[in-house]
Amino acid sequence: MALDNGKTKTISAGEDQALLAAPLEAARKAAASTAAALRSRTDCADIERIGIPRALLYYRYGVLWTTFFEQLGREVVVSDASDKDVFDAGERVSVDECCLASKLYLGHVQSLIGSCDAVFVPSLANRGHRKGFCTKYQALPDLVANTFFDTGLRIVSLLVNETEEKADEKSAFIALGQRFGSSAADAKRAYRAAYAAQQRADRVAARAQERLVADIDQRRRQAAAAGAGERSASDPTGEAGALRWPSQEAPLAILLVAHPYVAHDPFVNGGVVDLLESMGASVLYADQTDHGKALHESFEFSETLPWIVNRELVGSVTLLHAHVDGIVLVSAFPCGPDSMTNDAVARCIQGKPILSLIVDAQSGTAGLETRIESFIDILRYQQRGGYLHG
Ligand code: SF4
Repeated sequence: MALDNGKTKTISAGEDQALLAAPLEAARKAAASTAAALRSRTDCADIERIGIPRALLYYRYGVLWTTFFEQLGREVVVSDASDKDVFDAGERVSVDECCLASKLYLGHVQSLIGSCDAVFVPSLANRGHRKGFCTKYQALPDLVANTFFDTGLRIVSLLVNETEEKADEKSAFIALGQRFGSSAADAKRAYRAAYAAQQRADRVAARAQERLVADIDQRRRQAAAAGAGERSASDPTGEAGALRWPSQEAPLAILLVAHPYVAHDPFVNGGVVDLLESMGASVLYADQTDHGKALHESFEFSETLPWIVNRELVGSVTLLHAHVDGIVLVSAFPCGPDSMTNDAVARCIQGKPILSLIVDAQSGTAGLETRIESFIDILRYQQRGGYLHG
């Protein structure tokens, strides 16, 4: 130990402990009071109406988010369906490089200003190794805070980042519930109810799609049987290369592969679902396959793909491949994760025609209609054995 006169003095172990005890005790008290302060941090307790933008991962976790806040006794205001006005508002405050989907998100945030006390903008980084989200989802709170800084918009956020911060969804929501003034037990109950509601909604969607797949398979078998009968009567030897089955009776199943906020928002996808259905196709959604199964399956396709949502879409493609006649990939311009994933799908998924569409705000529906019409024509022609016998 150094003394003022420059000499040193040896201190005993007991003196050492006594000297250290005071600062250690002070540090312990400080830590305890910080933890208590954090525990009692209820900076969101005054929020009565919470706004949620109907965009991006609202289409994936919307049930979880709304149920959670309702369970906390809050009124939830979800922004209206997307339209040109909402998009234009978002585009005005966005930088050009932003993707269509994130520009639209900002438009939805803007539309909520004045109709709620705060807007919920979570930061989702990842749900584990190789289960990352697009960096846009992670950066949203900063993006929104900076964009709407002058408006005084209040933002409520949380962070899900399991790999770097060990912050999982459950603990993030429980901590958020406490910030709204709930006890830990009540916040946990709210999260459990919200999680169960989201699981239920996902299950309902997945089961409905499974029933549709079973129905398509059944109709396909019936049409094949009818076609075989027709061919044996009109072309018993098969040498004339008659049609395999009457095209009108054969179902045409298309798998739509797109992020949920593209697949289920007609403003973003340019009405691609309506177009396909108006041409007689049954549309299956890659994001409505059981998420766990699809994620697991995706590792057969790629060990290294970093994005969880793209993983689920790819896994769904391989799971449903045998049940569909064609695959339509739809991406919002300029999407980084899709540009890599969709290219891999187009190169590696064999045996089914694939149509790849990139949508942006400027694309009208005319070009889309023509491309979808041609695609359906090709599929119908192939269904009749056109490429096999022609
Ligand atoms: S995944 Fe693509 S479309 Fe979605 S936010 Fe990221 S860049 Fe935009």
